[in-house]
Amino acid sequence: MTKSRLEPQTGTAFELKARQLLRVIDLEGEQVADLTAFARGDTTEWLSSGRSIDYANTIYLTKSHILYSNRSQPMFTILEDEVGRHDFLLTPCSPETFQIIYDNHEPHPSCFENLWRNLAEFDIPPDAIPTTFNIFMNVEVGPDGTLKILPPRSKAGESITLRAEMDLIVGLTACSAELSNNGRFKSIGYEIL
Ligand SMILES: [Zn+2]
Repeated sequence: MTKSRLEPQTGTAFELKARQLLRVIDLEGEQVADLTAFARGDTTEWLSSGRSIDYANTIYLTKSHILYSNRSQPMFTILEDEVGRHDFLLTPCSPETFQIIYDNHEPHPSCFENLWRNLAEFDIPPDAIPTTFNIFMNVEVGPDGTLKILPPRSKAGESITLRAEMDLIVGLTACSAELSNNGRFKSIGYEIL
């Protein structure tokens, strides 16, 4: 087992073999971790929000749901989920997110940058990064379709466990967006079993 820790507002990329488990832990509570993945053998196959939501018939994916690729192949199965609320609608926060939504034009760390900088090691370019599975992110949809970003429901030590269903390249962050993390940036733990 490899146990690792992402410092606040950072990211990483690593390989995960088929049948290995990835456990993502909210070490302090109310902290989002963005996850993306690509097929190890062909990185034009990637984790698809649209396919996964379509086949699960819900936007709230949790225990026993499968996360699919753009080619409709299972990439992950969610084996355990102590939180039960994650987002798969929204893109990883990017420098433009902070300019457009937060009106913040100063340099700001972002999941998008933390993903592409780390995925570059695997020759995955920034434009290839799809909508991320935003672990612990709490997005409510109003009756009129309005989205509300609420504090994560995750408490310190709670986790989600995903099983890789193919050999993968995985990108993972400790999210950098104020609103998604109840205004405080914390670490994210992860284990490969
Ligand atoms: Zn983020």
